[in-house]
Amino acid sequence: MSTTIGPVTYHYRCHECGREYEITPDRMRCDTCVKKQEKERPLRGLLEVVLALEPEALPPDWEPIDLLPVEREWFPSIPVGNTPLWEPARLREEYGFPLLYLKDDGLNPTGSLKDRASWLVSAFARKHGIRRIVVASTGNAGSSMAGVGAAAGLEVRLYLPASAPPAKIAQSLQYGADLQKVEGTYDEAFALSLEYLEHHEGLSRNTGFNPLTIEGKKTVSLEIFRQLGGVVPDYVFVSTGDGVIISGVYRGFEDLVTLGFARKVPQIICVQAEGSAAIARAMELGAFGPPVRSTTLADSISVDVPAGGAFALGRLKRHGGIALTVSDDEILRAQRTLAAGSGCFAEPASATAFAGFLRHRQEIPPESRVVVLLTGNGLKDIAAAMRVSGEQ
Ligand SMILES: *Cc1c(COP(=O)(O)O)cnc(C)c1O
Repeated sequence: MSTTIGPVTYHYRCHECGREYEITPDRMRCDTCVKKQEKERPLRGLLEVVLALEPEALPPDWEPIDLLPVEREWFPSIPVGNTPLWEPARLREEYGFPLLYLKDDGLNPTGSLKDRASWLVSAFARKHGIRRIVVASTGNAGSSMAGVGAAAGLEVRLYLPASAPPAKIAQSLQYGADLQKVEGTYDEAFALSLEYLEHHEGLSRNTGFNPLTIEGKKTVSLEIFRQLGGVVPDYVFVSTGDGVIISGVYRGFEDLVTLGFARKVPQIICVQAEGSAAIARAMELGAFGPPVRSTTLADSISVDVPAGGAFALGRLKRHGGIALTVSDDEILRAQRTLAAGSGCFAEPASATAFAGFLRHRQEIPPESRVVVLLTGNGLKDIAAAMRVSGEQ
C-alpha cells in the first residue's frame, strides 16, 4: 500500500476522515469525503502525504528532496528551491526585530514558490510515464508548470484567465506551453481544466486538487529549518489565496516534529487581501460560507472559493495559527517599503505577507525569530508597482 524510497515509506491519508490510500497517478481525493462536496465550497477529501521512517535511518546530511515521495532520479534538472534566507539589516533595525528573515522564493527558476510543487509533480509524471500535465492558474502555477515542465520534457496544457499579468503569459508561451486563455475567472479556468481531463489523458496539477502540490511546497519549511541551523522559527507570515502554500508550510514543520527534529510548529500567520479573504472569514465564523467575488490587485491570491481552504483552516485551528487581512493600499505600501528597505522586489501577492508583518508586529515579542515568506518575484507583475511609483 505504500511507496518505499530508501529508508522512508509514504502513503496518502484523507485529512478529514483519515482513510489511507496508495500514492498513484489516478488518486486525487478521498472516495468517501468527496461525496460530501458542496457547490461553491473548498474541495472536500483532500489527501496529505504521510511519511514514516526511523529518523536515525536518515543520513545526517539529508536534504529536503529525501523527504519527497518520488526517487531523486525522476526530478527534472532545473534548480528549484534552495532559495536564500535574507537577513535584512535595514529592516531589522527599522522595526526593531534583530531576528527578522525574508525567505525569498521569488528567486526560483520561474520566479515563484509554485516551482516546488511543479518540480514534484513533474518527477511523479515522469516516474509513471505520463506525458501531459494540465493546470488552471491565476498565472504563477501555470508559468511555473510550463517552465519546470519544459525542463522535464513534458507537454503542459494551461488554462489562464485572459486578465493574467502579461509577464506570466509571456513566460508560459516562451516555455512552450499550450495556452488556453479563459474569458473568465480563475475559478472558471479551474472547472475547464478538469472538464478537459474527463476526456483526455494527462495529470492535473491543479493547486490543492493534486495532493502533491501541498507536498511539494513543504520543502520551503524544511529549508528554513536547516538555514536557521536546525531551529524552528517562532512566526512565519504566509500570503494566502487558495490555502495550498500555507498547508504545505504546515506539512513541512509537521514532518520535522514527526521525525523528532523539532518540538513545535511555528505560529503561522495567514495573510489575505481584504478583497479575497475566504479563509480569514472562515477562521472568524468557524466554517466556510457562500463565496464572495474577489477583488484585489494581488492577482496571485485572488480567489472566490479557495481550493485548499478546508485543509488550511483545519491546520490553522489545530496549531493555533491566526489569519488577518490587509487592504490593497497596505499591500502596495508594503511592497515599496520592502523593496526600498531591503533590495527585495516582490510581486503584490508576495508583499502581502510583509504587509501582514507590518500590521501584526506590535503583537510579537521583538526578540522572536520571524520569517516572512516571499512567494513571487516583483518583475512578474509590474503594473501596480509602476502606478505607485508615479509612472503609468
Ligand atoms: C500562489 C501564490 C500565493 C498563494 O498561494 P495559495 O496556495 O493560493 O494560498 C501567494 N503568492 C504568490 C506569489 C503565489 O503565486
